[in-house]
Amino acid sequence: MISYSIVIPVKDEAESIPTLYKEIKEVFDKLNRQYEIIFIDDGSTDKSSHIISTLQKTDRNINLVKFRANFGKSKALSAGFSETKGELIIIMDADLQDDPRDVLKLLTKIDDGYDLVSGWRKNRADSLTKRVSSYLFNRGTSFISGVKIHDFNCGLKAFKKEVADELFLHGELHRFIPVLAKKRKFKVTEIEVNNRPRKFGESKFGKLGIARGWKGMLDLLTAIFITDYLDKPAHFFGAIGLSFFSIGFLMDLYVSYIKLTTGTTQGRLPLLLAGVLFILLGIQLISTGLIAEMMSHYLSLRKKSSLR
Ligand code: UDP
Ligand code: MG
Repeated sequence: MISYSIVIPVKDEAESIPTLYKEIKEVFDKLNRQYEIIFIDDGSTDKSSHIISTLQKTDRNINLVKFRANFGKSKALSAGFSETKGELIIIMDADLQDDPRDVLKLLTKIDDGYDLVSGWRKNRADSLTKRVSSYLFNRGTSFISGVKIHDFNCGLKAFKKEVADELFLHGELHRFIPVLAKKRKFKVTEIEVNNRPRKFGESKFGKLGIARGWKGMLDLLTAIFITDYLDKPAHFFGAIGLSFFSIGFLMDLYVSYIKLTTGTTQGRLPLLLAGVLFILLGIQLISTGLIAEMMSHYLSLRKKSSLR
């Protein structure tokens, strides 16, 4: 039986892979448990796949999933998860920024009863702009999601198979794995890890900017929505819809009152129109919620998610 599945997304990391493999082997051979290494080649244009295939010839614990093009880190992790046979999944970046020796620290936290342990790069070996934007991202995500950790996006994480089964990563959702897990009521914690500078190649997430910040906000909204409200979308749309409806209703009630008592609308036609607009918007949002509710109900009939 396999105990540990190490899942590694790879996009053009040929120079790093041999050292990474050596470091992983050093750590895991000592643990005396069966393990597998799953590399996902996310459309690399360098020799990454070739190097992994060569390693595979001498080590049967290596598995390679090869994408036909670059689909992003989230999809790569997701594809990796569906290949895993281990009870515990460890994810780490391929660029040697994460230190495989830290896995031992993560494992002690799992032994303490946590379902997911995330690395916390307290002393980050990245550029200033990256550290600043990362700081803002982490503080914002922690504030909005209510998950009290410092570093959401560390590439090094360990979690139980059950957690992976509940993570459906796409887009940029890999940044929110701790949020997704916590919202699914798994026990989540973090532990300080070593962070090393990138030796070879360059960061695939280097470009920063306002557009990126907005997208990050939308991604967080998605993360919260698909966890908090997936089961009860009508509550989300309904709450907003009902408030809109009530505001519109009060506006029009007021205009009707004036018309009935004074005989004219007293120039309050704009208010009447605004009221109509709010009522319509409200009804529309409530119906959207109900349709989402039907979809959610239909899906839950087909897929029984494990709550144990
Ligand atoms: N990666 C990937 N697909 C992508 C971009 C990145 O699989 O489209 C991998 C990359 O090879 C690395 C990890 O995701 O193993 C983290 O990427 P990177 O080091 O560029 O991110 P950073 O550390 O700069 O945030
Ligand atoms: Mg990196």
